[in-house]
Amino acid sequence: MWKHLTLAVCIAASAVAIAAEPAPADPREAELAAVRQRICPAPDAPPLNYAEAFDPEKQRMAPVKLFDNLYFVGMKTLSSWALTTSEGIILLDTVVHYGVKDTIVAGLERLGLDPAAIRYVIVAHGHNDHFGGAKYLQETYGARVVMSAEDWVHIATAKQLGPEAPLPKRDIVAKDGDAITLGDTTVRLVLTPGHTPGTLSFIFPVRDGAAVHKVGYWGGGAVSFLDADQTDIYVKSAHRFRDIDPAIDVEMSNHPFFDGMLPKFELLAARAPGAPHPAVTGNAMFRRWMDAFADCAAEAAAAKRAAVR
Ligand SMILES: [Zn+2]
Repeated sequence: MWKHLTLAVCIAASAVAIAAEPAPADPREAELAAVRQRICPAPDAPPLNYAEAFDPEKQRMAPVKLFDNLYFVGMKTLSSWALTTSEGIILLDTVVHYGVKDTIVAGLERLGLDPAAIRYVIVAHGHNDHFGGAKYLQETYGARVVMSAEDWVHIATAKQLGPEAPLPKRDIVAKDGDAITLGDTTVRLVLTPGHTPGTLSFIFPVRDGAAVHKVGYWGGGAVSFLDADQTDIYVKSAHRFRDIDPAIDVEMSNHPFFDGMLPKFELLAARAPGAPHPAVTGNAMFRRWMDAFADCAAEAAAAKRAAVR
């Protein structure tokens, strides 16, 4: 099963090459196309160059305030999100361990936020491009690290891809339906296995002036390294998360090429007063987005079964 496979394949093989292709005019269609290409890449797509894809220097970008209480402190290919609350920061995913200081810590400081205010680090899944920075944040700021039981085991047993990340000390063990509350803000945790045995997805509120929106944060990524049975589990999780809350109107993930955040950041920078928020796309779009993951994964499972016949 999972632990015997080559892991940490968080992005599909074509992720870096695709960045150079011209995007379709509608950013929502571009986002769905990107999910499809990365979850079900072309057979001739080149293998991922991990070092290049997650190089903090090459992929560096300025941090972004996306909502009044949500800040992007990642890189062009890898996300980390700071959710600010009345009692400190909840950090969602931590990039690679060799990027945590230059990306997350420096990004927070540049935004005027204090990294020492990080109280919780919630890791969506146990691949080292997402848990890599957790140990540093745990040791430096005393942040509590949250992961599912399955993925606490996974990080300790699965082979890592790319430079090996140090493991955080086992801390909070999350199960399906748990919530992390800090001050005035709650993040709901949904167990959505598939990409890893214990992938977590998140639901939480964000504010845009007087308006409150709800983020559906899909914690899983590529399926290329999964076997057909694991891919079936992924599909089931994607369908469950698609249907989980009709109030979700913002889709989000831990790689910008899955949620189209880079073009959305550009649109936000040019947003006219009173204009719609570019990251608020509505529940119908969220459902289409989750369907893109699920449908491509279902195709991948079918192809894997056909290949072994
Ligand atoms: Zn991954």
